[in-house]
Amino acid sequence: MTKHISEGSAALKGHGFSRAEKSAKDDGALAPEASSVVPQPSAVYPQPSTMVRRMKDYHPPLGDRSGLRLDFNENTLACSPRVLEALRGISAADLTRYPEREPLERRIAEHLGLDAAQVLLTNGVDEAIHVLCQAYLDADTEVLLPVPTYSMYEVYASGTPARLVPIHAESGFQFPLAAVLAAITPATRLIAIANPNSPTGQAVRREDLLRIVDAAPHAAVLVDEAYFHFHGETVLDLIGRAPNVIVARTFSKAYGLAGLRLGTLCAAEEPMRWMRRAISPYSVNSVALACLAAALDDEDYLRWYVAEVLAARADFESALRRVGLPFWPSSANFVLVNIGSQHREFVEAMRSRSILVRDRSSDPGCDGCVRITIGTREQTHHAIAALEESLREIGWNLQFAHESIPRLL
Ligand code: PMP
Repeated sequence: MTKHISEGSAALKGHGFSRAEKSAKDDGALAPEASSVVPQPSAVYPQPSTMVRRMKDYHPPLGDRSGLRLDFNENTLACSPRVLEALRGISAADLTRYPEREPLERRIAEHLGLDAAQVLLTNGVDEAIHVLCQAYLDADTEVLLPVPTYSMYEVYASGTPARLVPIHAESGFQFPLAAVLAAITPATRLIAIANPNSPTGQAVRREDLLRIVDAAPHAAVLVDEAYFHFHGETVLDLIGRAPNVIVARTFSKAYGLAGLRLGTLCAAEEPMRWMRRAISPYSVNSVALACLAAALDDEDYLRWYVAEVLAARADFESALRRVGLPFWPSSANFVLVNIGSQHREFVEAMRSRSILVRDRSSDPGCDGCVRITIGTREQTHHAIAALEESLREIGWNLQFAHESIPRLL
């Protein structure tokens, strides 16, 4: 990786590719008009599979998100400068190769204190969830899903023949341990738990996770530690000791690499063999792989960003107390607040101030709730000022919000 990418592009100028493509077009060979099978409006299209039809439709924003991004819990500032250096080191020739994931799987295994065979890099945790569902869910199996939680568990599980069993959180969004234990049957194949959870920000106690792992040895227990860095507790030490524990980590949050799509699955070697079979061998691209070691190496940057978010979260939670806005104390880089019936107006009022926040009011038990990502202190202070203005603008009624959700802490 010696050559700067722009030097590589310069070297390709004048190459014959573009001329060849152009002449194919001139011949009319690629022109759509030349085709005799232009679909008519009444055409019968191939039918999608039953499984895809069953899948829950999910619509994340794929267009313009300009403004302060406090809506999707990414790092709100930047990745480590060392990652940018690694990016600059990628040559045009590097891009011609298929990605080579194994050296980086060894590297991350070393970083996490695991064997390489216990680690699988994925195209974000989203792909990890997809792979898990593909690898484990058959007809006559069940997925236990404490809700509210991260949407993609349901999206990918609903694309399999398994039965989804939602288990509602207890009062104050407490983890429903007793109900999860009671729902375990011989058919349970996957239990998906985000720790800390999204959108609530609540953490699950280690002893509760251990109870579930013990009670369901025949099920894969996914502990999604996407927000680990803001919480600091992990069950990674169970890998290799508990055969059914699967831990997921992401580079999208604290590391600031959401755009590169990098995640990690960690599990015992035997379950990992099936997940390696289910995953596309090249789903983690070589640009992401080239940046991974630099991201891992810059621990100072990671520590700085996490400390910044934790300080900002404390400031944000004090501001919420000051204005009297109900919220759930968070162990992650976001806070769920209860706006009440005016949640839509609030999101719009924030947007008109160029701050994007996420309406979660349609999540189970989250009526009237909005989730706000915590960034740096400076960004958060700006968000607090916008929040106060927005509440004034919508004539927010404290009394009403308290009445609308009786389950607040
Ligand atoms: N797990 C949880 C709990 C999340 O909240 C998110 C992102 N919002 C993800 C996984 C997705 O992570 P990635 O960007 O690595 O796909």
